[in-house]
Amino acid sequence: MKKKEFKAESKKILNMMIHSIYTNKEIALRELISNSSDAIDKLVYLSATNGELKVNRDELGIKIELDKENRTIKIIDNGIGMTESELESNLGTIAKSGSELFKEENSDKKNLEIIGQFGVGFYSSFMIAKKVSVLSKSINSGDAYLWESDGEDGFTITKSEKNDFGTEITLYLKDNTDDDNYDEFLETYTIERIVKKYSDYIKYPIKMDVSVEKEDPKDKEKKITEVETRTLNSMIPIWKKKQKDVKDSEYNDFYTDKFYDYEKPLKVIKTEVEGMTSYQGLLFIPSHAPYNYYTKEYEKGLMLYSKGVMIMDKCADLLPDYFSFVKGIVDSEDISLNISRETMQEDKQVKLIARSLETKIKKELQSMLKDDRDNYLKFYEAFGEQLKYGIYSSYGMNKELLQDLLLFYSSKEEKLVTLDEYVNRMDGDTIYYASGETVDKIKMLPNVEDAISKDKEILFLTNYLDEFVLKTIGTFKDKKFMNVSDTNFDLSTDDEKEAIKKVNEDNKDMFKTMEDVLNNQVKGVRFTNRLKNHPVCLISEGDVSLEMEKVLNAMPNGDNVKANKILEINENASVAKKIKELYKDGKTDELEKYTKILYNQARLIEGLSVENPTELTSLICEIMSK
Ligand code: ADP
Repeated sequence: MKKKEFKAESKKILNMMIHSIYTNKEIALRELISNSSDAIDKLVYLSATNGELKVNRDELGIKIELDKENRTIKIIDNGIGMTESELESNLGTIAKSGSELFKEENSDKKNLEIIGQFGVGFYSSFMIAKKVSVLSKSINSGDAYLWESDGEDGFTITKSEKNDFGTEITLYLKDNTDDDNYDEFLETYTIERIVKKYSDYIKYPIKMDVSVEKEDPKDKEKKITEVETRTLNSMIPIWKKKQKDVKDSEYNDFYTDKFYDYEKPLKVIKTEVEGMTSYQGLLFIPSHAPYNYYTKEYEKGLMLYSKGVMIMDKCADLLPDYFSFVKGIVDSEDISLNISRETMQEDKQVKLIARSLETKIKKELQSMLKDDRDNYLKFYEAFGEQLKYGIYSSYGMNKELLQDLLLFYSSKEEKLVTLDEYVNRMDGDTIYYASGETVDKIKMLPNVEDAISKDKEILFLTNYLDEFVLKTIGTFKDKKFMNVSDTNFDLSTDDEKEAIKKVNEDNKDMFKTMEDVLNNQVKGVRFTNRLKNHPVCLISEGDVSLEMEKVLNAMPNGDNVKANKILEINENASVAKKIKELYKDGKTDELEKYTKILYNQARLIEGLSVENPTELTSLICEIMSK
């Protein structure tokens, strides 16, 4: 059987290419500039291996010329150039990459940073041009040739004239339509912007003549127009420079400029990894949360560069959600890019880089926590909630990574402390905490007062996620967590426990009456000996604490989750004596009123709402007027 070759209609393929591979017209310039840079690279490489080939490095570069009248853009380079047959095969065969071939032929040179690989970039010029001409003279041939195509009916190659070797590409811009205006590509500021965005770190200068209005030195009233040649790209990326050669202010300026922040970053993280995957990273921790940070609009991601060319503005896969606040740039040659190089292919390399960045970020945050607490506090204020969310939303999967970075307010230290700091100075096996709206409000909680008087350190949880986070963590260094408003929290001695048990037993009928009044709102009513000054408190039994009930019920579509509440009354308070009397004297009506007031007082103390405020106020007034 004879094998036949596939035949393809190149016109159709070209059309498909232009319209489906690329989404962004600006990329045409990026591709042509990258090709020019590759061509110069090849020349530099060959001159290094071939003594006869002399190049003046200072003159190597790319020039862009705009012609508004004729609506053309020229991209000119003094690179290796193309012979007649190279023009034919490289620009006449879709998906043929002369650069890839060059790399293969010269594969001994690892640092040959050639950008091209797919053999399609050139054709992106037809996104903005109706006709493209390529005038080229190869270093290997004395003659110059002109390749021309309108992208529809193939191409022509004719012998031509050109003084120096290199390539000159002319784009004849498409006519404007109602939907697309191509004239913007003739404006110098558009070109400056595009080069800055995609090709800022091409290592050869990209030059363009720009007309500028100046004051006439002879007549200050008059303006004159002068043409100056500008270099549009900065060539060496700041992340490729050694850290010791870059001033802090340069990093800061780079950050504020690239990431549109008005404040300098809290921390600059420079990282360079070589091995399974090689990359350079320059990361920043902002000093404040962007206004939309905690909303759906916020997009996480790092800028992705490959070989000095910008590929993606925000590559989300490089950052885990809990570190979504990090801004920065990753530059790697190892990532396999999508053919349009507007995105990358999801691959192992990206995952490896992401994991390595994650470890680095965590390490940097930890060292900040240890050595630069003031700045860490600023960081935590802005992004602490995101770390907590990271633990909670992954059901604890990330707890090992993140729990060391958490801070909670300590009753003892009267400032934010880490779990580790708490554990290092504690006795016993329990980390105590209390939750509420603010530190001041928590301090006033009856149970908290009792625990503090017994010299316990308590973590005050003021963020709505805090308690959920501790529950997700479960245990920290083998210590369990306990809410001081939980029934199990009891610091009294065995004798005290015995005594109160007896008192409660003796009064169980009275409590039964009171429980009936509160009808399902509480699981029980009882005396306690743990309250010092307060007459009442509410505690909870089981998984849902009072604070969690509040949070869950405040959520949209929140289930009507209820904590199992127990109303505790201070056995030594005068009101305890009063209710005992009322019960003994058979004044059940009065006892009912007292019960309702006590219960609602306890709710108020806990920051829970009162279901029937009108009833409560009239009850209080009634008792006040007696
Ligand atoms: P790629 O750059 O991915 O290889 P292109 O379609 O952009 O693919 O270019 C095809 C080939 O044409 C390149 O590999 C290179 O060999 C050649 N080429 C393109 N532009 C130039 C140029 N300015 N100078 C020399 N050769 C070029």
